[in-house]
Amino acid sequence: MRRSLLVFALLALGVVPALAQEIDRAAEYRQSAAVLARYPDVPIALDAPALKPGRSEFTSQAEMEAFLAALKARVSALVLGSLGRSQQGRDIPYLLFTQEGLADPAAVVALGRPILWFIGLQHGNEPAGGEAMLALCAMLAEGELKPFLDKVSVVVVPRANPDGAAAFTRATASRADLNRDHILLTLPESAALHGKLVELPPDVVIDAHEFSVANRWLQKFGVIEASDAMFLYATHPMVHPGVTALADGLFRPALEGAWQAHGLKSFWYHTTSYRPNDKLVSMGGNAPGIARNTFGLMGAVSFLIETRGVGVGMQGFERRVATHVVAAKAVIAAAAGEAARLHDAVVAARRGTAADRAALVVAHRLAVGPVELPMLDPKSGADRPTEVPFRDSRAVTPTTQRARPAGYVLLGEAGAAARRLALNAVAVCALAVPAAIEAEGFVLKGAIKAVNRESINPDQSVEADLAAKALALPAGALYVPMNQPAAGIVAAALEPDSPGSFIGTGILAIPPGGREVPIYRVDAAAARTLRLRLVPLPGAPADACGG
Ligand SMILES: [Zn+2]
Repeated sequence: MRRSLLVFALLALGVVPALAQEIDRAAEYRQSAAVLARYPDVPIALDAPALKPGRSEFTSQAEMEAFLAALKARVSALVLGSLGRSQQGRDIPYLLFTQEGLADPAAVVALGRPILWFIGLQHGNEPAGGEAMLALCAMLAEGELKPFLDKVSVVVVPRANPDGAAAFTRATASRADLNRDHILLTLPESAALHGKLVELPPDVVIDAHEFSVANRWLQKFGVIEASDAMFLYATHPMVHPGVTALADGLFRPALEGAWQAHGLKSFWYHTTSYRPNDKLVSMGGNAPGIARNTFGLMGAVSFLIETRGVGVGMQGFERRVATHVVAAKAVIAAAAGEAARLHDAVVAARRGTAADRAALVVAHRLAVGPVELPMLDPKSGADRPTEVPFRDSRAVTPTTQRARPAGYVLLGEAGAAARRLALNAVAVCALAVPAAIEAEGFVLKGAIKAVNRESINPDQSVEADLAAKALALPAGALYVPMNQPAAGIVAAALEPDSPGSFIGTGILAIPPGGREVPIYRVDAAAARTLRLRLVPLPGAPADACGG
């Protein structure tokens, strides 16, 4: 208690990192011997710096870079590159594994094999995922996973948030949550990641995290988490059902089976608020800017995988890393075993999204019902299954639906918005000649009360009505068509009342004193009268501005 007061006082004074970091690494919560006895090491060989005998520290940035450089020196066929730099100037390495040792993304795409992405350490205080990525790289470069590279190509980003990892904090150096920024792309770390994602479009993405073992669970329910692993696929309601079917039908059984075979327990990912009296437990939310959902909206099979590590320092670290490695191996084996079916289904989902004419789900609510969570007694380690009210992110009831437009006109200072859309594989077009069209505008029902970028579920305060609008558009005005594979991202970004939208977060500004949003919905008849050209932006696909 005294220690946490001290940390609080230092935080309040702004003295932070060094001391807070040491305390974090030493763990805020110490599991009892009886609990720890239930989580022994997993007997698999793992080559990773922090798992060397006698270690009491997580892997540093320098150690990670040295580990990867040594691997590259031994195995020249692997590609070791840089996505870019973090806010504090740290490198964000990526590794690309193909059987042929290809470095050119277009050549990798031309192989026609599924491309699997593995991302670690979006949250800097969740180290097991990052460590597992290093062990995974060794297995792909020169170990047991190398033979799968005749069926799949693999991209690994061991440390997406290196500043957070160095400070052992969840957020980036700017104190933003990287894992809420995948539609907005306001951070250099998310922009760097997406710059490569659009070059190597994923068939599958695994986003490796850790969850809180005790803190809030102990406070609210008197128990601690039992699971070794929690998982959830993309649950945003506009993710193509073909992708969800693959996630639930092919990869979930593969993951659960692999964990079970190693004596590891798994459950659906869930979280709960910091408010002590709020007993609601929610699955990972449906905000589109969460990586899991954004990648799903890009048409990839997308999983969040978490291990029991937040708040417990290095306790059980080998088992946590092994849990992630077992998952990665299962995903690679499942993808390789069904490579053609997987890739065909992802291609079909992307085409299906581009051709979809169904109404947009702009806002929705989620069902809440009782669920028994696998929990433990914190002292004895005995099973203490605990019933809680559980908000199920898969059980969606739309509350606001709108006809799907043919596209959106963006007026005003929309250049940054266009660049961000392009980094999510969205083609942005410009009018080649002026046009006069009838469109639909959005009128906000009130001033935007609060910007909540960290929310996991649709609780944002932006509400808008539609109103007919005659537009006289100059040549060069931006137009974002919906007949493209990333249409779900377009709608999530541009419908103002979609949670985390460009308007709701202030990425696109509303003219001062006004209520009219500088985004206009264009129907198919009006869209046919537009003469368009592609705006050449990094990441944008080249084929959506015809006609
Ligand atoms: Zn996390």
